[in-house]
Amino acid sequence: MTTPKRTNLIGLSEAELMELVQEMGEPGYRGRQIYHSIYARKILEFSRMSDLSASLQRELAGKFCLALPSLCSQRRSADGAVKMLLSLEDGQKIECVYIPEARRDTLCISSQVGCAVGCTFCATGTMGLRRNLTAAEIVGQPLFAAASGMVPRPAFNIVMMGMGEPLHNFDAVMKAVRLLSDPAGMAISHRKITVSTSGVVSGVRKLARQPVVPNLAVSLNASDDRTRSELMPLNRKWKIEALLDACREFPLDSRRRITFEYVLLGGVNDSPEDARRLARLLRGLPAKINLIAWNFNPDLGFVVPEPGRVQRFKEILQEKGFSTFLRKPRGADIYAACGQLALQR
Ligand code: SF4
Repeated sequence: MTTPKRTNLIGLSEAELMELVQEMGEPGYRGRQIYHSIYARKILEFSRMSDLSASLQRELAGKFCLALPSLCSQRRSADGAVKMLLSLEDGQKIECVYIPEARRDTLCISSQVGCAVGCTFCATGTMGLRRNLTAAEIVGQPLFAAASGMVPRPAFNIVMMGMGEPLHNFDAVMKAVRLLSDPAGMAISHRKITVSTSGVVSGVRKLARQPVVPNLAVSLNASDDRTRSELMPLNRKWKIEALLDACREFPLDSRRRITFEYVLLGGVNDSPEDARRLARLLRGLPAKINLIAWNFNPDLGFVVPEPGRVQRFKEILQEKGFSTFLRKPRGADIYAACGQLALQR
């Protein structure tokens, strides 16, 4: 006889947990207590939920589990970044990268196993899409990082810039955003959560209508449609202008800006003319620009940009009045570009 599979309670909202305990004949507030234990106190064993009776703890443990992704391997970079390869229940692997920073650390999490977008400069893009992550698997990454002691500080910003296109997994991503940002749970302000898209215009417009709107980052990477369509096939469907129109209509309160990510690929998109065209495209948008010098990967056929061209690119954008940052290739020694660790396996 096989033991019936226990249902994982990670990923359930407070309302869902209240309903679940009521179906067990318990008062609804027990669900609120369980919710608080999981997300606010990071208690992941029923037997340690001291505000529940011993009999309820036993009943819960018999029917349910609190399962997070498990650590498959990790690499620590000299700059303090920690790249974790996590294993899911079905054996699929995802990546999660912890990046220590001066003011507040960042955890970069995945939203899919693989990715259907197929950007030519990205290791994950070569995998194709294997499957969407569930809300439990998305929220399970920061819960794992905070509860496992793998990262030195449990308070961090969240960026969905790991494996996958978050807006292709909209419902699960938004449920995870609500769980992460709920003041009664993990309490990570929606201003500290960033969803990064390769340019899914319909998704950007849908995101703009959500009750909780996280920060938006757009992976732009080119200043003209021909180059962008070569680098990011999604651009054949949604051209740069359509994408920027959706960005112009994205709701932002006074001090919030849209982050535009631009991976500089040597000889492809890193010329001074590219920088000037980019400035013209973004004129009038509340934009912050993050430049990333491409992380070398011998399998992808691009070259690292020359430091002088990277510097000039940045200066041109700054001269045009844009807040422009050159992101250090954090964890370059541990293969920090997305998909590289999972592909190595
Ligand atoms: S860069 Fe992002 S959207 Fe493009 S293939 Fe990689 S994971 Fe997918």
